[in-house]
Amino acid sequence: MLAPHRDSADLTDSLDLQPLPGGLDWDGRIAYLDRDGVLNVGSEFYINTPDEVVLLPEAAESVGRLRRAGFRIVVVTNQSPLGRGHWDHENLAAIHARLREMLLELDSDAHLDLVLYSPYAPWEGAWARKPHPGMLEAGRQLLDAAADGTDFDALRLKFDDEWSNRPDESTSVMVGDRGVDMAAAHTFGVTGLRCDPDIGLSGVVDSILGGAA
Ligand SMILES: [Mg+2]
Repeated sequence: MLAPHRDSADLTDSLDLQPLPGGLDWDGRIAYLDRDGVLNVGSEFYINTPDEVVLLPEAAESVGRLRRAGFRIVVVTNQSPLGRGHWDHENLAAIHARLREMLLELDSDAHLDLVLYSPYAPWEGAWARKPHPGMLEAGRQLLDAAADGTDFDALRLKFDDEWSNRPDESTSVMVGDRGVDMAAAHTFGVTGLRCDPDIGLSGVVDSILGGAA
């Protein structure tokens, strides 16, 4: 199994969730977010250093609005430069640390609850690489385990056909700028919203929140 990877931790290390803004109880809603073209400006040559992270307009405020409305945030990003040998996991961790820092500078509620990535090259056919939904499957199980107080030492994530009794994803959402994001959303069973890569998350956040928040 070519499993998803998790930013700065092993996949099934225990996950400490930060409280939602205003002490909201979490009702299970997750906003699964692609990274490039949703939170930050993407590039056909990849984002290769922390200095290349440029937030899209109102990305931070949009993440903050989602969390203030009760969503938890799971980033699910394909990172084939790892599988292609361009750079290593430590470099990606530095890129994500910068992304987190920039988001929180602009909106103190813009916390990313979990960042998952697929390091695999396209030809590896990984279930964890979009258009497959492995990262979304892992994200749901990790957040639910953290919220339920599950013993992470005993946690075994399930993927694809081996995972039955899946929780309802009808109030969650997946935002991405490409067809592979929408395909992953469809296979996983969550509503997919495609955003303009030049606008990103802020272009669809009103439709997620129904204009109410
Ligand atoms: Mg993208």
